[in-house]
Amino acid sequence: MLQPADHLKRTALLTILTLSWVSSAAAWAVMEMRGVSSPVLRGIFGLNIVFHPVMFAIVWRRWLPPRVIDMGCLLFAAIVCGVCMALRLYAPVYGASIDLQPLYLWIPVIYVFVFTQMGHKSSLALALAILALFILISLPYLIFHFDAAFGNFTIQLHLVSAVLIAALYFFSSHQHRFQIAQLTVDQLARLANTDELTQLANRRRMTEALESELLRFARYGHAFAIILIDIDHFKTINDRFGHSVGDTTLVRLAQRAAEVLRDVDTLGRWGGEEFVVVLPETLLDDALHKARALCAHVAAQPLVDSHTVTISCGVTHVRTGDSADALLQRADEALYAAKHLGRNRAEGSPDKPVELVRA
Ligand code: GH3
Ligand code: MG
Ligand code: MG
Repeated sequence: MLQPADHLKRTALLTILTLSWVSSAAAWAVMEMRGVSSPVLRGIFGLNIVFHPVMFAIVWRRWLPPRVIDMGCLLFAAIVCGVCMALRLYAPVYGASIDLQPLYLWIPVIYVFVFTQMGHKSSLALALAILALFILISLPYLIFHFDAAFGNFTIQLHLVSAVLIAALYFFSSHQHRFQIAQLTVDQLARLANTDELTQLANRRRMTEALESELLRFARYGHAFAIILIDIDHFKTINDRFGHSVGDTTLVRLAQRAAEVLRDVDTLGRWGGEEFVVVLPETLLDDALHKARALCAHVAAQPLVDSHTVTISCGVTHVRTGDSADALLQRADEALYAAKHLGRNRAEGSPDKPVELVRA
């Protein structure tokens, strides 16, 4: 899908191409009217008049990937500037009198454009290559006509270009380092909040989720419920089929439980073979209903190979003055009751019996 930034960039490019075309055509017309045009100028303006509509069509119809278009514009600008420089330096020697100097102003813009296109190292290489090209073009002039009026200007231009490239490289490499640091911070934050095995929210993240729901409840009165899930006889699965089957069971259980939950519910691994679900805007009855559905869904089909497992659930909803510990304590008591009453079932706190769920 096209991102808003891409859309903006495309619109900007189309606008720039249109304006460039109009200004080239206007400049050409004015020069012809004033009688100061020449075959060389006609060649350059002609190239511009053809290039801009072609590029406009390519951008408009999306015939080429944006990256190719950007590089095409960049190369075109560099070539036009190089040709203009060569003409300005050498054409007067052969009798032509044309003022292409203003076009030189675009040379620094080319370097800025280069650094927006690639990583800082590739940008530096390309910018230096373009600078080397301009130096090469002007070298014979500087050697043989050093004292000429344009020698000083050309040397200043090369110096300014070199300083600009150095500055752009400095900022670009800083930005690169900042991006890497930001990536590391994001990765660390993800690792700190994710359970490695199931990729669910871990205990730390779930504690945060609980605390923020408690805050919402205290401030705005938004009630919520939690379900504590524990796999029945999980130790037997490990003992009979091995630890890795046990691990796979945990992963599959996480996936299957998620199928029953809403997008707004947060499922996390509380530790070992225990999971916790935070259900916003939910009271005990609905949470019990959800927990029953969870038990039935897990028990309905084998989780790993032909091994079917069941779960027990302890359910509670928030009460005034609750802390995370108090809430979890009640859910744990309800879970204990569910185990005590035969497993593969959900129990609520306060004492509210729930029918046994059979697979
Ligand atoms: P109950 O029905 O009473 O819950 O019985 P249980 O066997 O599930 O209960 P218990 O808490 O005694 O056993 C939990 C087992 O879960 C013990 C431990 O070896 C296992 N376990 C905990 N974490 C992991 C894990 O990450 N991977 C695997 N494979 N096993 C784990
Ligand atoms: Mg347990
Ligand atoms: Mg267990």
